[in-house]
Amino acid sequence: MTDFTKTKALFDIPAGVIYLDGNSLGPLPKDAPVRVASMMKNEWGQLLIGGWNKAGWIQQPTSVGDRIAKLIGAEENSVVMGDTLSIKVYQAVASALELNPDRKVILSDNGNFPTDLYMTDGLIRTLNDGHELRIVNSGDVEAAIDDTVAVLLLTEVDYRTGRKHDMKRLTEKAHAAGVLTVWDLAHSAGALPVDLSACDVDFAIGCTYKYLNGGPGAPAFIYVAPRHFEKVRPALSGWLGHETPFDFDIEYKAGSGIERMRIGTPPIIALAALESALDIWDMVNIEDVRAKSNELCDLFVKEVEARCPQLALDTPRNSEVRGSHVSFRFADGYAVMQALIARGVVGDFRAPDTMRFGFTPLYIDELDVLAAVDILEDIMTNALWNTEAFKTKLEVT
Ligand SMILES: *Cc1c(COP(=O)(O)O)cnc(C)c1O
Repeated sequence: MTDFTKTKALFDIPAGVIYLDGNSLGPLPKDAPVRVASMMKNEWGQLLIGGWNKAGWIQQPTSVGDRIAKLIGAEENSVVMGDTLSIKVYQAVASALELNPDRKVILSDNGNFPTDLYMTDGLIRTLNDGHELRIVNSGDVEAAIDDTVAVLLLTEVDYRTGRKHDMKRLTEKAHAAGVLTVWDLAHSAGALPVDLSACDVDFAIGCTYKYLNGGPGAPAFIYVAPRHFEKVRPALSGWLGHETPFDFDIEYKAGSGIERMRIGTPPIIALAALESALDIWDMVNIEDVRAKSNELCDLFVKEVEARCPQLALDTPRNSEVRGSHVSFRFADGYAVMQALIARGVVGDFRAPDTMRFGFTPLYIDELDVLAAVDILEDIMTNALWNTEAFKTKLEVT
């Protein structure tokens, strides 16, 4: 059984803060500043350019990728780090389309995060080859899978409602219709067990700054099923994905296996911070995380519904079809969230009216949940949110 008291002590959370926004940006692991400072002083400072060889920087995208692979049920050497999740969406969808050249439809749902849809739209414009992005309601995805579809692009857990798709069933259905799958794990990696290999997923992508706690702008990851390695032709064919980058060949030749999904110079400072976050994951069983997260979410839903009748639950009650956050809707949800943050309960807001609360057992326990609901009840019962200051929108919500 994972010792969550121990993991909680490994994070630097300001006194008086109940942090319910790990679904957007995980908190600081206490070791991260130490690790980053040491990397900067001893590696960058002392080794200079030699760090690429002597400190193994050049291998880090794949060595860190292997650490992520363990958390998402991926085979060894099938995950590589780099860039942002938006770039990885482009890379994965472009590669998947090339593997299914006779079809033109990319199927997604309206619960997907906008950047996934925007990047696909941009890709379609670049390809200029008659592709279509077909967006259906989340509940209609399964019925919309047919033999016109080239690629199914889904985010497993909806960033607004927390609704979780059935990855295994939808991937099976897609494959039966000759459709390739791209799964976005932004709200899954570190939140719940994922088994890419058992689900037979073709491509997966995700970020590391949410539940994995890698820090703001931490590098994203991409997974390619090993069966596709030799056929995948990277649309973003950067020099570090070349078979022999240091031959400085004029002609691009894709590197072996997952290496070909590398693009350019990896962010070594950010990878150092991410590695310290992953050290904590080495002490954690993801099944325990899931069980505890379900308990915390259930407790929060029960308490809020009993004590704050003004708020409408927007997340499935059944934990099997839910991720690790809970959303409530309220017309002035933005102001309520600002009032909560002013009292140390940090969640976030998604337009037009959704308040999101992430439950991350690594550093949140039952007492935190109950304390947060006490404050929320006070704010709702006494309309403490109803001030101009709380209603004034900041740039990042
Ligand atoms: C958070 C999130 C993103 C963010 O993309 P970035 O390029 O890292 O800014 C993309 N897709 C989904 C589904 C997300 O939840």
